Amino acid sequence: MKIGILSRNANLYSTKRLVEAAQQRGHEVRVIDSLRCYMNITTRNPEIHYKGEVLEGFDAVIPRIGASVTFYGTAVLRQFEMMGVYPLNESVAITRSRDKLRSLQLLAKHGIGLPVTSFAHSPDDIDDLLNIVGGAPAVIKVLQGTQGLGVVLAETKQAAESVIQAFMGLKEHILVQEFIKEAGGSDIRCFVVGGKVVASMKRQGKEGEFRSNLHRGGSAALVRITPEERSTALRAAKIMGLNVCGVDILRSNHGPVVMEVNSSPGLEGIENASGKDIAGQIIEFIEKNGKPNKTATRGKG
Ligand code: ADP
Ligand code: MG
Repeated sequence: MKIGILSRNANLYSTKRLVEAAQQRGHEVRVIDSLRCYMNITTRNPEIHYKGEVLEGFDAVIPRIGASVTFYGTAVLRQFEMMGVYPLNESVAITRSRDKLRSLQLLAKHGIGLPVTSFAHSPDDIDDLLNIVGGAPAVIKVLQGTQGLGVVLAETKQAAESVIQAFMGLKEHILVQEFIKEAGGSDIRCFVVGGKVVASMKRQGKEGEFRSNLHRGGSAALVRITPEERSTALRAAKIMGLNVCGVDILRSNHGPVVMEVNSSPGLEGIENASGKDIAGQIIEFIEKNGKPNKTATRGKG
């Protein structure tokens, strides 16, 4: 197969591993920087141009679109979909997953366990906003944040009020969430490929840090998940419409709660923790499923 990887940096661990895994299996693979793509949106003849050439003959494309380039990256992916190229994850599903509010609303609608969450636009109702999640301590999150940036733990009501006011003053959209203290600064990342949890790891925040993100100094270790956690992860992936994703779960007193579903989960932490060839499993999934014109939406919506 001829496989394109939409990634801005060919030297990233995840990109390198996917290239390696594809080549090992005899595929032709090319890393494409989505920001260098420009497009011809003509009726019935969608094209993608790249550094002066026309991109042609791709069977599948693996989107590894960074949060900061979601808008343009998903537009490029949509163009591939319109050309009938099989996307590992579809552009609509990626856009959906990048908006925390939209994701939580979708998951809630389908009965997935979530931390109690509230959101509002105006600063008038901060009191009630906090009451909904059981008061302080509470977690306040910027909607478009990633890697733990834009996630704040407010220990007291006063702190929570000031943080909410500050974000609202900056015109940032935020959500306020029940703090799952019993998770003890750790979460479970379930790595899903094609309707299976292929590996799971427990991430633990560094001393004194409630955020478990590896980018914030957290560490990862292999973990055995419960059947309930497994089914929660698989249902969340299905609801989001993602073939490959990382489902992040907190172990709360009221069962597993989903925090977020990541559509471009990193491979380094999970491959190191599990010792598994996850990149190989992703390529294998593409071999089985990557047929031309086999996207659910073909770039629609
Ligand atoms: P990001 O997209 O920036 O990774 P997350 O929502 O995943 O944002 O939050 C970052 C980290 O903060 C999580 O991995 C988790 O360890 C911690 N965290 C987030 N929400 C909560 C919560 N409601 N209760 C306890 N810890 C939380
Ligand atoms: Mg996270």
